[in-house]
Amino acid sequence: MNEAAVRRDLVRYSHAMHAAGFVANHDGNLSARVADDRIVCTPTRFSKAAVERDSLVVTDGSGRKVAGRFRPFSELSLHCAVYRARGDVRAVVHAHPPLATAFGVAGRPLPHPFLPEAVVSLGAEIPTVPLAAPGPAAVEALKPFARRCDAVLIAGNGVLSWGPDLETAWLRLELVEHLCRIAHAALPLGGPQPLPADMVAALVAKRRKGGLAAPEEGRPPPGPLPGAAAGDDPAARATRRALAGVPGADPALAARLAAEIAASLEGA
Ligand SMILES: [Zn+2]
Repeated sequence: MNEAAVRRDLVRYSHAMHAAGFVANHDGNLSARVADDRIVCTPTRFSKAAVERDSLVVTDGSGRKVAGRFRPFSELSLHCAVYRARGDVRAVVHAHPPLATAFGVAGRPLPHPFLPEAVVSLGAEIPTVPLAAPGPAAVEALKPFARRCDAVLIAGNGVLSWGPDLETAWLRLELVEHLCRIAHAALPLGGPQPLPADMVAALVAKRRKGGLAAPEEGRPPPGPLPGAAAGDDPAARATRRALAGVPGADPALAARLAAEIAASLEGA
């Protein structure tokens, strides 16, 4: 896709983000990698409703500005971390869609998977990146997830998603919020029921076969399971319960082993 088309899409999806109610004030940011060392992105301190082609900023691959009247946004370092980790990714978008962000600020993991189609679109995992201070700490927190999935919730922030083009990155963001809207509606009815593990495994296999899977999808993270610290991940909670009072037990190690076993079953 040429740069003129990318600029058109950056404006289009900035406006779509605002129209959908996913941002307020200067929230949200979008970028696209148009060449190895060239990123076009939205400017800082702009309502997404006000972004136009001539307000876009051009940076090099590390986020240093090379052209444009305005400055790039500070969270561009998160986008660059995804671009560095994923040669296949050409676009990254970030917003604060209210329901998805509500799960993050409440310290609750996203209730996924409960709809089969969403597993094919996003995989079996939409992890929550642990809370970290903006800047290098936030980049470090995000890194372990960039190759394992295509959309994350960031605790205390919002949703970050990516893809081979802006349309795909945007559709993933939209889908995460839609899932959260459905889950929220289901809460007074008893909450969404998780899909059976064998169905999830079959859907993940279908996703892999279709070439949709992230490069390291299904692999366990290097540290304790995401959500384990918040105490709300059901697997981590079950592990902690099972190990309570067992002398010398290492809950983090047990959680990691459980995730490795689950991942190996998924690939079987
Ligand atoms: Zn944000």
